[in-house]
Amino acid sequence: ARKFFVGGNWKCNGTAEEVKKIVNTLNEAQVPSQDVVEVVVSPPYVFLPLVKSTLRSDFFVAAQNCWVKKGGAFTGEVSAEMLVNLDIPWVILGHSERRAILNESSEFVGDKVAYALAQGLKVIACVGETLEEREAGSTMDVVAAQTKAIADRVTNWSNVVIAYEPVWAIGTGKVASPAQAQEVHDELRKWLAKNVSADVAATTRIIYGGSVNGGNCKELGGQADVDGFLVGGASLKPEFIDIIKAAE
Ligand code: 13P
Repeated sequence: ARKFFVGGNWKCNGTAEEVKKIVNTLNEAQVPSQDVVEVVVSPPYVFLPLVKSTLRSDFFVAAQNCWVKKGGAFTGEVSAEMLVNLDIPWVILGHSERRAILNESSEFVGDKVAYALAQGLKVIACVGETLEEREAGSTMDVVAAQTKAIADRVTNWSNVVIAYEPVWAIGTGKVASPAQAQEVHDELRKWLAKNVSADVAATTRIIYGGSVNGGNCKELGGQADVDGFLVGGASLKPEFIDIIKAAE
């Protein structure tokens, strides 16, 4: 069985004071046990040590990005080795905001995923189509191509979670319907079965992201192939606790 996974992507938000408040709220919350749900929050880089050192021990932290290879003369970048050095277990890679705004190609994202895994990090790898691509009927082609760039470079999938995040649903309040999410998750799992292996398809968690909130999480999370969420805006609010509870 795939353990339910709830990630909170804080993106480029927060002050130290706000971060402390969020951590306090999380620390005081009554949530299902670690056997039922894996909870990972992803603060901006500068807050990672603060969050890691103050967050309850049954929740984990993720960086929002890392460099594609070994560190060195790459001003402004943070390497996978540094995350390992600080005991940061997870990293989000290939978020659509980085693909679109920072021009990260699928190949570059695939290289990052492979490198981060090789250093011992666990990876939340994001894929998803734009509205234009969905309306053109190419959702699955886009998602498959993004996943293929990862599959071409990765052999061990045990530390990979795939986040399906339709770009049109991110930060828009236009959540995918449970049926829309389930359809892509199911096709993605079939793609993995055909192109990677039946075992990887059966065991890899595919989580949904895009306008998940306390109101819509239960029905989305109830879909057979939706193994959890990557939450943006709502992960900065107490509502995130309700989303964690959708695991039950
Ligand atoms: P929102 O939940 O704010 O739509 O963001 C989703 C997301 O991009 C998570 O990575």
